[in-house]
Amino acid sequence: MARPRLALHWQILLGMLAGLVVGVLLNLLHAPLSAAAADSEVLAAVFSFVVKMNAFVGDLFLRGLRFIAVPIVLFSLVVGASSLNDVQKLSRIGTRTVGIYLVTTALAISIGLLVANVTRPGTWLSAELRDRLAGQAAASVADKVQAAAAPDAWATLLDVVPANPFQALANASMLQVVFAALAFGVALTLVPADKARPVIAAAEGLNEAVLKLVDAVMRVAPFAVFCLIAKVMATMGVEVLSALAVYSLTVVGGLLIVTLGVYPLLLRLFAGMGPSRFFEAMLPAQLLAFSSSSSNATLPVTMECVEERLGVSEEVTSFVVPLGATVNMDGTALYQGVAALFIAQLYGIPLDLGDQLTIVLTATLASIGTAGVPGVGLVMLVIVLQSVGMGDEVMKGGIAIIFGVDRLLDMCRTVTNVTGDAMVATVVAAREGDLLGAQEAAARRQAREQAPLDENP
Ligand code: ASP
Repeated sequence: MARPRLALHWQILLGMLAGLVVGVLLNLLHAPLSAAAADSEVLAAVFSFVVKMNAFVGDLFLRGLRFIAVPIVLFSLVVGASSLNDVQKLSRIGTRTVGIYLVTTALAISIGLLVANVTRPGTWLSAELRDRLAGQAAASVADKVQAAAAPDAWATLLDVVPANPFQALANASMLQVVFAALAFGVALTLVPADKARPVIAAAEGLNEAVLKLVDAVMRVAPFAVFCLIAKVMATMGVEVLSALAVYSLTVVGGLLIVTLGVYPLLLRLFAGMGPSRFFEAMLPAQLLAFSSSSSNATLPVTMECVEERLGVSEEVTSFVVPLGATVNMDGTALYQGVAALFIAQLYGIPLDLGDQLTIVLTATLASIGTAGVPGVGLVMLVIVLQSVGMGDEVMKGGIAIIFGVDRLLDMCRTVTNVTGDAMVATVVAAREGDLLGAQEAAARRQAREQAPLDENP
């Protein structure tokens, strides 16, 4: 009898834990290993092969996910919008989604500011250590601290409409892809059925094919996650991590409050869903968000989890989740609130309530229209710091200091970003009556998984 296979999310979790252990070991062994490699050519060759292989597998996996991201949004949204023959419903879903996204983002930053006002992370570092850390990393962040224009709401809004939809697809500009797919999907509902049907059927077929690709890419996820995590852990600076422990714990604490406190509460209140069903369904996407630090790369898996495992309808999933990957970054916004306060405290710059409200507003606006890719939160932080009048030197020093722990915090905030998108999709679907019960969702998933391939002619 065949042994039952471990569920994929457990395999990914195991890969992650193994990556953590191996990465930490490599971190500790780094100096002796490099010394030994310097003495032996064979060892040096093995050493370099392992490092390259590791990076190759991780990057290949991320490439596979990015390969899928644009087609999955395009095809599923064309199908979703074309089956939504009620424009009123569409505008209701749109308004609700954007409204909840903005409110939860502002709420998340406020929680970040609140926690940072209590822990005061910037007061735990001596001026001497501050200057030493700032000096060490100054070179690596020089290109990140460039005067950035404050977000202009009009320009952001205008940018949603692509001048050329094919360029939007080629550049993977998610917001524009969502707009284009929505426009074509709705237009299909207005043409005669005999013309629309073959196009929709093609989009449906392509969508199914893309879902199979997601499954295929996910098969290597446990190993790829191992490689990604091992690499991050092996290269993590231990000194910076311990010096910035209070700051890092403040960010992580805020993220935990939002992810494990605020979201379950909203789900319970507005979707009648308990936390265990939600988190069990979302675990694969969360683990991937953590390992990849990218909401965009995680998007195909987030969509699959939301639709297949949570039971949200295709119409709602295909609109709300891709939109969220760009527009809704609760974790990033929270992190920016804490980082801004940390840097201000570090350099003794007072930020009054007005300044902190400016941070809420700027970080909320800045998160719209920014792609969910690794490290982008740190770049956007410049805009937030500028909005409260921080000078160039302080910005450079502050960003150089937090740069050392940014990857780790990026991993954590990306989990919140992705979880927030799924939470909003669930709430919006529940309000529209587009959310299946747990058993119905499981039955539908099983039926789809078992759909016999020999049905194909
Ligand atoms: N990496 C984050 C994401 O993809 C964005 C960030 O905070 O840097 O959602």
